[in-house]
Amino acid sequence: MIVGLDVGTTAVKAIAIDDAGEVLTREEESYPLSTPQPGWAEQDPDDWVRAAEKALSRLDATTVGFSGQMHGLVSLGADDQPLRPAILWNDQRTAAECAEIEQRIGLPRLIELTGNRALTGFTAPKLLWLRTHEPDVYARIRSVLLPKDYVRLKVFGERAIDVADASGTLLFDVEHRRWSDEVVAALELPGEWLPPVYESPEIAGAGDQAAAALGVGVTGPGPVSVVLGTSGVVFGTLSEYRADPEARVHVFCHAVPATWHAMGVMLSAAGSLQWLRDAVAPGVSFDELVAEAEGWPPGAEGLLFAPYLAGERTPHADPDARGAFVGLSVRHDRGALVRAVLEGVAYGLRDSLELLRDLGVQPELGRLSGGGARSALWRTIVASVLALPLETTAVEEGSAYGAALLAGTRSGVFTDPADAAARCVRVRGRTNPDPGWVAAYTEGYARFRRLYPALSTLRA
Ligand code: ADP
Repeated sequence: MIVGLDVGTTAVKAIAIDDAGEVLTREEESYPLSTPQPGWAEQDPDDWVRAAEKALSRLDATTVGFSGQMHGLVSLGADDQPLRPAILWNDQRTAAECAEIEQRIGLPRLIELTGNRALTGFTAPKLLWLRTHEPDVYARIRSVLLPKDYVRLKVFGERAIDVADASGTLLFDVEHRRWSDEVVAALELPGEWLPPVYESPEIAGAGDQAAAALGVGVTGPGPVSVVLGTSGVVFGTLSEYRADPEARVHVFCHAVPATWHAMGVMLSAAGSLQWLRDAVAPGVSFDELVAEAEGWPPGAEGLLFAPYLAGERTPHADPDARGAFVGLSVRHDRGALVRAVLEGVAYGLRDSLELLRDLGVQPELGRLSGGGARSALWRTIVASVLALPLETTAVEEGSAYGAALLAGTRSGVFTDPADAAARCVRVRGRTNPDPGWVAAYTEGYARFRRLYPALSTLRA
């Protein structure tokens, strides 16, 4: 059995496949998340290890690949034991440290080197935070790891990181696929704390976004991956390193050697529909709710939704952005609100796609995944707003599946990630843009682009 193990934020998911990519078994073990202060998010790294060991004990694995939540900081002492709980990707405590990093290195140089700006979720600002706020812990650090790499160390005794996950530390020279001596020195961090770096197939590991893209077959120039989960992602492959000059999209190493990827992230994608349901239709199923939107034409008679319920990352990088309905009339009912939400989320994804296009991504096709992809109406809306045909694939656990493909590549079952994807990833369905809707949405998108600047003038 080839096993992929995804160390997520709520659970470890393990998936076992055969050499044709058929899923043989799925296992899941969950663990708690702690928020000791507002905006903080921590987990006990040994909870991940216990969960992984439990899941693996029920599988007869010949080889294991890892994917996991990115950016989290596991700080280890001389005995390789965690010195404190891990600080996670969604922890918001490091605003001051992010400003310090951009000031020390200079924003343009930071973007040139790392492909990104300093975001609170990334790993480097967490280390600076520890240096200031927990100097006793900081003084005892001997090495640092990302979440899934800590699990690999404990389960298999292998200390390593892959280029894809290392890209999210802000300490990585993304163009040259190695630690950035310049950034490490500028931040006065000990370089010997960092683990040896490998290409993803060499070590069978990748951050969850790169693994998920691999899991839907996005291995090179061609299709983009569009994730319509609680948060949304548009992910495209680059055959050369290119950073967005303002870092509005992330640029990271891909899990495929010699390729990079650009990625836009929406904080509240299908999460917006979840919010609307909780607010106006508790107890109603997503299918029923979406059915109410079907009677409305594209554009919902002028109703627009701004999907910034949790602030926004791409393209606005604005934690204080907020959502809105604009253009309400007495004719609008609950179904119209739903339609506007489905469309507003699709417009947000289009914003990311346009930024990827600016970097040279030229897709003719998308691969759609995430809970929102279950709705035929939402699939058609997204396909029409992006003006791209969208395919769905057979296996829903993209990250764990991608990790399994890397495991099979490391152990020689597949020759490389592209071969693994070509042999295993199966297309289940295809949604074409509706030609009549594409025109309406071209106009709607132009209006949507004016929404964020207008709302910015109305801050509370
Ligand atoms: P996560 O990103 O948190 O792992 P999912 O990818 O499963 O979660 O996405 C969950 C979201 O998908 C829900 O909040 C809901 O908005 C959306 N969703 C789930 N089922 C449907 C459905 N049948 N129709 C439309 N949207 C759905």
